[in-house]
Amino acid sequence: MKQYGLVLFDIDGTLTRTQNGFIPFNEAFLMTFGFPGDIRTVIPDGNTDPLIVDEIFAKAGQKPGGGEAWEQTFAINLRDSYARAIRDGKTTVSALPGALDLVQALGSFPGVYPGIVTGNFEATARIKLEAAGLGAYFRLGAYGSDARERTDLLQIAKKRWDASAGEPFAPERCIVVGDTPKDLDAARGKRMKCVLVGTGRYAVDVLLSCGPDACLPDFKNTAATVETLLGLLESAAH
Ligand SMILES: [Mg+2]
Repeated sequence: MKQYGLVLFDIDGTLTRTQNGFIPFNEAFLMTFGFPGDIRTVIPDGNTDPLIVDEIFAKAGQKPGGGEAWEQTFAINLRDSYARAIRDGKTTVSALPGALDLVQALGSFPGVYPGIVTGNFEATARIKLEAAGLGAYFRLGAYGSDARERTDLLQIAKKRWDASAGEPFAPERCIVVGDTPKDLDAARGKRMKCVLVGTGRYAVDVLLSCGPDACLPDFKNTAATVETLLGLLESAAH
């Protein structure tokens, strides 16, 4: 396959928004650990699910028992809780404005591959993408179930795409698209490019001050967003 570049999208706040009258994360926490934990006591944005659980425990002055063995149980409980909540209409996951048009548009450029890098466990990531109508557009990615640190997820996603392509993508031909300074830090840790979008917790001026390669208010202008992304890939060629 002809290589041009990878565009590695974060999910929450970047591609989708989740509206919770009910919080699947907290239900899964209670089911897994037997006591209540509240994701609203921490700032989860940009973090991986395993580290979010650690942080909730740390707030209570505790650590999850049993090493990292709980991760699999928690991932299953979270998957089931999300699936139930979405089915029952208690939780809705929607594509952010322009996200669907953007991934469809990127798919029309030969050699440009949209992938996923998210702190969500893979099962939850897939449920969210499906619920938002984006599931069909992402073939490979890396998830919170693959590693705890976001920067490691970028390496894992790239390796999967490298294997699929049969040759490695140069890091400067990989663009991380996210909504938090953590997405940028992870990208810089792997010498990848980064575009931040102001549809999550952080306002555009805050994101801009972190120094990404580009910053967008949202994805509403598909042509401008595609031009920004392709422009960054193009600049990597020189
Ligand atoms: Mg995010």
